[in-house]
Amino acid sequence: MSLVSTRAVVLQTFRYSETSKIVRLATRDLGVQSAIAKGVLRPRSPFGAALETLSEGVAQLYHKETRDLQTLAAFDVTELRRDLALDLGRFAGAAALAQLMLKMAPAAPLPAAYDAFIHALDNLATAAAHNADAVAVRWIWLLVGVLGFAPELDACVRDGAAVAGNGSVAFSTAEGGVLCPTCAGAQPPTRLPPHAYRDLLALNDAGAELPSLDAAHARAHRRLVSRFVRHHMGEAGPLSALDFWEQHAWVTPPLDAS
Ligand SMILES: [Zn+2]
Repeated sequence: MSLVSTRAVVLQTFRYSETSKIVRLATRDLGVQSAIAKGVLRPRSPFGAALETLSEGVAQLYHKETRDLQTLAAFDVTELRRDLALDLGRFAGAAALAQLMLKMAPAAPLPAAYDAFIHALDNLATAAAHNADAVAVRWIWLLVGVLGFAPELDACVRDGAAVAGNGSVAFSTAEGGVLCPTCAGAQPPTRLPPHAYRDLLALNDAGAELPSLDAAHARAHRRLVSRFVRHHMGEAGPLSALDFWEQHAWVTPPLDAS
């Protein structure tokens, strides 16, 4: 057993006993880990109030490879990101990303996933309310890519043929990317209008300007990326935070007159 010091984000916590909590951490150096924080609920806890969901810090873990539950010796907060809670769009997006980390990231070092997750939280914490969806969609796509499931968007996923960007483009969630007209056939699984395809390219490119999505387009992009995640990473079981974000479940739907 060794004492490891690593940057980490609290993904989830639950009470374990009168005085202890179990925390799920995304760590930079050890991947996703579960650890017990003994005494965290005592009045003079060594952790203070530090173990808040989505807070980032330096975790000291007694780590043993063969063990499922590690021991958290300390957690020194560097970033609380309380701004995430100021807007439900931001918060729901961050929760969906945290759930992806929790369920899909390995219990092994994957610094690129950790870094993508941190960039996502930073960008969401400062996103304007009307951009929160586009930011979350972008970082879910980018995290999916880092985890090994990047969609093929530049050429046909089946035969590599060029995909023209001036008309609408066929997209197959099951096959993991766009289809050329020959492969798409008469009834492609999903048809992206030219501007939805351009937005999808920009959303998947961290260096591109963030597309501005109106409510209907934001909904379509949330649905597309959520469906993609569920199809390719579905073995993780239900993704309640992703569902909540995709459906904007905090918004009261307008009364339907029909
Ligand atoms: Zn093709």
